[in-house]
Amino acid sequence: MELDKMDENDWKYHGEGNKSLVVSNVQHARVLRLLKYSTEDAENSHKTTEQAFRHIQNIVDYSQNVMKPLLGEKFVHNGEAVKLPLDFVRQLSLKVQQERPESRCDKVMDTFSGCALCLPNLTQLSCCCSREHRPPLCIEIKPKCGFLPSSRHVTKEIKHKVCRFCMHQHFKLAHGKWKRLSRYCPLDLFSGNKQRMSLAIKHLIEEPQNNFKIFKGGECIYSCKDDADVLQDVDELAQHLRPYFLPSGSLMNGHQSSKVVLNELIQVIVSALLSSWDPRKTHLSEGRVRCEASLLHRDLLRNTNHCLPKDCVLDKILGTQMLDSLDIEGLNPLFKRVEQHLQDFPKERSSLQIDGPYSQSFLEKIQNCPTEDDGSIEYAVGKVHQYRVAMTAKDCSIMITIATCGEEDGLDQSLEIQPSKPHFTYSVSILDLDPKPYESIPHQSRLDSKIVNHYLRSTLPNN
Ligand code: ATP
Ligand code: ZN
Ligand code: MG
Ligand code: MG
Repeated sequence: MELDKMDENDWKYHGEGNKSLVVSNVQHARVLRLLKYSTEDAENSHKTTEQAFRHIQNIVDYSQNVMKPLLGEKFVHNGEAVKLPLDFVRQLSLKVQQERPESRCDKVMDTFSGCALCLPNLTQLSCCCSREHRPPLCIEIKPKCGFLPSSRHVTKEIKHKVCRFCMHQHFKLAHGKWKRLSRYCPLDLFSGNKQRMSLAIKHLIEEPQNNFKIFKGGECIYSCKDDADVLQDVDELAQHLRPYFLPSGSLMNGHQSSKVVLNELIQVIVSALLSSWDPRKTHLSEGRVRCEASLLHRDLLRNTNHCLPKDCVLDKILGTQMLDSLDIEGLNPLFKRVEQHLQDFPKERSSLQIDGPYSQSFLEKIQNCPTEDDGSIEYAVGKVHQYRVAMTAKDCSIMITIATCGEEDGLDQSLEIQPSKPHFTYSVSILDLDPKPYESIPHQSRLDSKIVNHYLRSTLPNN
């Protein structure tokens, strides 16, 4: 990519989240991730080029030095901070504006700093299978928090029984964020039990909200519609997927084939999520794997031994999420201890690495944090850092890119039971690994009690 010869016609709108807008290159498997800011505080959000570049470099450092060692080398692509010509960025912003969903237009793309994060386009495969005539499929899952807190600091019993995602659904419904409850429960996805995982993915397909998307050849073909009234068109999705999952000569049609195709998709996703070279297992503690709000049949929850293959993507994400061992209720007093300390010794802010730099020694503060509270500032800071890292892992997305391969040049074709059914190769990555701001901890604390209180009021009127 030649930064001095950037042309907006080589880039197109790809997607966006709450913090950033992503454009993809039309020829190469690259994306640019640009920051957004809210139109309300446009004044405050203007950063100089140097500040913006520093901010993006911080994201790169954090992915590379902190999240990559925790989540695994093979899953994380940290990308590169780049400075783009301002003219290019302004043209790009005009070009993508009409493609943006209305619900995201409360924020605007940063066209002032010219800084961006350049990443590989994970919805495309830049490797071997590009000869293949079928464009790659990519499934994006934002799994959210996969365990129930066991911290003794938790004051509301319900938090040991119903997971955060399921409680948050009721809150979002009441505040008009979504019009229907999702039946997805992260504890089902992280359970390691194939049946529970399949149901979790089925529920994601039924109500994707912002937790599920499918791309074909780099284009998003399935996600939540902006108009929340519209139910997802699952049959249309199945049409897209049919050539990948049904033998070419299949006579099956209509509803029956949709079911088969979606079921095949779900099975591929489950295998990708559980794939690992390590034969060992991580056993999940009994108390943490069942959410009472999940609608799965009780027998399915009761009679299974829950474990994840060690080092599969779910195991890595869950392990990192569980660095939040005290829950926000146990963390908040430690946050206050840090705040007090910073008031007394403001100069220590940088040596304690409150706002970075996200270096090897930041990771060491996380890994060497004492297990028991010895009253020290090191303990408090270590726990605050751990909490923030866990927050990142609760907010990341998993990208599963699938390519069909081998059916034409298949060596073992004669041995196959269904010779015309494609085989798949997949690659799994994790994205959206931004550091979560230290300052947002008090907000997290207030939000937690709002969500829990709302849940108690709305679902258990007699308690
Ligand atoms: P959130 O609101 O979830 O925090 P965000 O604003 O931090 O989102 P991202 O999640 O990083 O932004 O990016 C928004 C979307 O752009 C993603 O959900 C994904 O669909 C797409 N995207 C981001 N990075 C890549 C990439 N490297 N390759 C392909 N698609 C990407
Ligand atoms: Zn749940
Ligand atoms: Mg995201
Ligand atoms: Mg994000």
